[in-house]
Amino acid sequence: MFRAPAAIPFDPALDHPGIRIAATTEGYSLVAPGLCFATMTATRTPGVPVIENGRLISTNPATGAEIGAFPVASADAVGAAVDRARPAAEWWAGLGFTGRKQRLLRWTSLLANRIQDVSELISREGGKPVAEAVVECFAAIEHVSWAAKHAERVLKLRRVRGSVSLAEFSAYLEYQPYGVIGVIGPWNYPIFTPMGSIAYALAAGNAVVFKPSEYTPAVGRLIVDTFAEVVPEQPVLQILYGKGDVGAMLTRAGVGKVAFTGSTATGKKIMASCAETMTPVLLECGGKDAMIVDSDADLDAAASAAAWGGLTNAGQTCIGIERIYVVDNVHDAFVDKLVAKASALKVGVDQDSDIGPITMPAQIDTIRHHIADALDHGGRAVLGGLDAVAAPYVRPTILVDVPEDSVAVCEETFGPTLTVSRVANAHEGVRLANAARYGLGGAVFGRRDAMRIARSLRSGMTSVNSTLTFAGMGSLPFGGVGDSGFGRIHGADGLREFARPKAITKRRARSLLPSMSFERTPKQVEIIKRVVKTLHGRRR
Ligand code: NDP
Repeated sequence: MFRAPAAIPFDPALDHPGIRIAATTEGYSLVAPGLCFATMTATRTPGVPVIENGRLISTNPATGAEIGAFPVASADAVGAAVDRARPAAEWWAGLGFTGRKQRLLRWTSLLANRIQDVSELISREGGKPVAEAVVECFAAIEHVSWAAKHAERVLKLRRVRGSVSLAEFSAYLEYQPYGVIGVIGPWNYPIFTPMGSIAYALAAGNAVVFKPSEYTPAVGRLIVDTFAEVVPEQPVLQILYGKGDVGAMLTRAGVGKVAFTGSTATGKKIMASCAETMTPVLLECGGKDAMIVDSDADLDAAASAAAWGGLTNAGQTCIGIERIYVVDNVHDAFVDKLVAKASALKVGVDQDSDIGPITMPAQIDTIRHHIADALDHGGRAVLGGLDAVAAPYVRPTILVDVPEDSVAVCEETFGPTLTVSRVANAHEGVRLANAARYGLGGAVFGRRDAMRIARSLRSGMTSVNSTLTFAGMGSLPFGGVGDSGFGRIHGADGLREFARPKAITKRRARSLLPSMSFERTPKQVEIIKRVVKTLHGRRR
């Protein structure tokens, strides 16, 4: 029996001319004219998705248990999905705000009533504890509800103030859907993250073609299947299974806009691909979020929030806290409290665990490298360290005295590790926090200056005296600056992200001064000059 190397996903689509790969009940046979090869069974590494016989198989990252098998989309299937979505988008837009709101709110109640089942599936496929999955679902449902309830107010046709110089015209503004939105999602929050695009795109009147991560196709299917229960008439929300190449095909398939959430490296490829067809793009990419602990902070609250903000979901959180800057006179006390909190967390696959496995096995090498590099360059592990890395788990690791130019401080680790650095004052903390090329979220703990510090952090979102809380608030926009991407999901800005502004002027009276017309006379041009000087020429 020949076994395919575990590290190479076995792909029957790679049939070689003259050599055919045939699926059997036991595995695969290589069939070539006049030759007989042994049957080959594709061995699987827990958590690494494989394509077998044209189907994407997802497995639990700790146990390797198969979660589901999903048909991989071909190029034709990608094009067909987008073609089907176009009339569906027209039908969906035709329901109007009220019709869509009713359907979307029905979807929220369906998801809310099944929250235990949905959370269990998230846990089985991605590995996070069910309690963490419940919190994820809670936030996702909140966003569907907010988008449904506020879409009309934010996007509807409204009259806006005109201008004195064109007083004979009224001005109107509305936000019209793009038609079809391509949503490409990551695996780390498989319902919350894509929902930030899907719910807002749907509420704005678009159809959606969704490509979930290859690591979490089962949760992707659940999103689409539950939506189809409340909107059975048309394929308003469709799914495409596959690896990155399927996502790449979606970016070229003629959608009105692409909403991508994932790594910065992939985000750059998506942007380049969208540039070929001038397809607008929203990029929600990685982060290296910092927390500032000022001298007047509540240290118990700060340590507790840092432990959760940095270690939840095993640190696989785009807005996870990865760096902490603590003012000198409270640094040692804070570190002691943080170590006490983090060391009490239970790591494992049991449902009372706080931290589950690393979902994407390849990430373990990155986490190990970041810890090793920090230790090699003078850092110290006050909790965890290299021994904490024991695939598929990584135990909480707190690093201090890590140089600011090391990868553990500069690059996204995406694991349950935190660096804690001593700073002279909050100003220095902000300066170091803002030196990162990323700028997604962040947090501040303190009293007197906390709001000022929060405002000066170079990021899209900041929590004061909490961590990550902005993500669950429907009314607040979510997105980054710098290498964390651009564009916003959530809130009113998130709704507008999935709609084009449409401006209309409407004549309401005859023009006394016809400036925008060849009918104007030289005398009227003189009057126009006088009007301009009166309106704008006075020195202030
Ligand atoms: P990836 O960038 O690896 O993948 C994201 C998605 O893009 C997946 O569906 C992937 O498919 C797909 N993809 C991969 N290559 C291409 C391509 N060339 N063209 C089109 N699509 C492609 O990210 P991860 O899934 O590993 O997610 C983790 C990253 O996501 C982290 O950096 C994290 O910070 C970031 N993130 C950002 C968030 C934000 O809101 N800013 C929220 C959550 C995560 P496949 O998986 O099949 O390869």
